[in-house]
Amino acid sequence: MSKSVLLLPGDGIGPEIVAEAEKVLHKVNEQFDLGLVFDSAHVGGAAIDATGVPLPDDTLDKARKADAILLGAVGGPKWDGLEMAIRPEKGLLGLRSNLELFGNLRPAILYPQLASASSLKPEVVSGLDILIVRELTGGIYFGQPRGVRELEGGERQGYNTYVYSESEIRRIGRVAFEAAQQRNKKLCSVDKANVLEVTVLWREIMEELSKDYPDVELSHMYVDNAAMQLVRAPKQFDVIVTGNMFGDILSDEAAMLTGSIGMLPSASLNSDKQGMYEPCHGSAPDIAGQGIANPLATILSAAMMLRYSLQAEDAAQAIEAAVSKVLDQGLRTADIMSDDGRKVTTREMGEAVLAAL
Ligand code: ATP
Ligand code: MG
Repeated sequence: MSKSVLLLPGDGIGPEIVAEAEKVLHKVNEQFDLGLVFDSAHVGGAAIDATGVPLPDDTLDKARKADAILLGAVGGPKWDGLEMAIRPEKGLLGLRSNLELFGNLRPAILYPQLASASSLKPEVVSGLDILIVRELTGGIYFGQPRGVRELEGGERQGYNTYVYSESEIRRIGRVAFEAAQQRNKKLCSVDKANVLEVTVLWREIMEELSKDYPDVELSHMYVDNAAMQLVRAPKQFDVIVTGNMFGDILSDEAAMLTGSIGMLPSASLNSDKQGMYEPCHGSAPDIAGQGIANPLATILSAAMMLRYSLQAEDAAQAIEAAVSKVLDQGLRTADIMSDDGRKVTTREMGEAVLAAL
C-alpha cells in the first residue's frame, strides 16, 4: 500500500532546503521501492500571503490525511507586524495541536568530520550522540489560566499555569522508553521535583512506567543540574525525557554542543506514529534566497521520517550514510565551513547527497 508524504516548504530558506530533501526522497523511493506519493501545501507566511491565514483548512486537511509531513521553516520579518493570532508561527503550533504531535524527538549528534565546530573541548564532545524527547503539546506553554491581569491597586501581574495530567506524562514516557530500548537502554528523566508539584507527579509516573521496560535503566535529574551536566559531561546521557519548557531549553543547549544548527533534524509524533519532521533551525531570513543554506538538517529530517513514520529503516540509514560521505568528501556549506573544507551551495550539497546514494 502506498504511503503519503506532505511537503510544507514554508518561508525563508524553507523552500530551498525542502527542494533538496525532496530530491533525496524521490531517489530512495525508487531505490527501495517504497511506494511513496507526494503532495505539497502552504503553511506560515507563505500561507498568509496566499490565503490570509497561516494554516489554511486545505493544508490542515492534507496534513491529517498524510502518513508523514516534511516541513521547512516558517516566519520572517515580513510578517512580524501581524497580531499574534495570525503570525506564521501559529501555522506550526496549529499543526502540532491539531495532529496531537506530543512527542518531539531531537537528536544531538556530533559528526566527527565537524568536531572543530563545537564550542567544547574535543574530548568532551567527540562521539556525542544523544536524543532529547520533549513533550510538545502540554505543560506551561498551554496551561490555563494564563494572561496578564490587573491587581487591586492597579499593578499588573502576568501568570501562566504549569499542568500535566497522568495520561499526558504516560504517553510521552512511553515514547522515551521505547526510544531508549532502540538505543543504549539508558533514560534520564529531567524535572524540578524539589520545587514543582507537577513534576513530582511526572517523576512518579516515570517510575511506574519503568516497570514495563525492565531493560531500560531510568534515572532522574533536576533541570538546573541537567543544564550544567550537558555542558560539563554530555556523553553521560543517552536519552533524556522532559516537559515542554525544560525540553525547549535543553534541546537548544544540546544542539549548540554540536556547533552546527544546520545539521540537526527533529521529529514530532502522535500516538499513531504519524509525524511531522523538520530541521531544528528556523527560516534564517538573513540568508534566504541566496542558495547558501545548509540542507542537511532537512535531509536528515527526511531520514527520521522514513525511520519513525514510514517503516523504511534501510532507506533512512542509506540517507544518513550518504550525508556522512559528503562530509567525508569535505563538502561544506557556509555554516559548517572549515579550513580544509570545500564550500558548496545548497543545491550542490543536495546533489552530492544524491550522488552518494
Ligand atoms: P526561529 O525563531 O524560527 O527558531 P531563529 O531566529 O531562532 O529562528 P534561525 O532561523 O534558526 O534562528 O537562524 C539562526 C542563525 O542560524 C541565522 O544566522 C541563520 O542564518 C543561521 N542558520 C539557520 N539555519 C541555517 C541553515 N540551514 N544553514 C545555514 N545557516 C543557518
Ligand atoms: Mg529559535
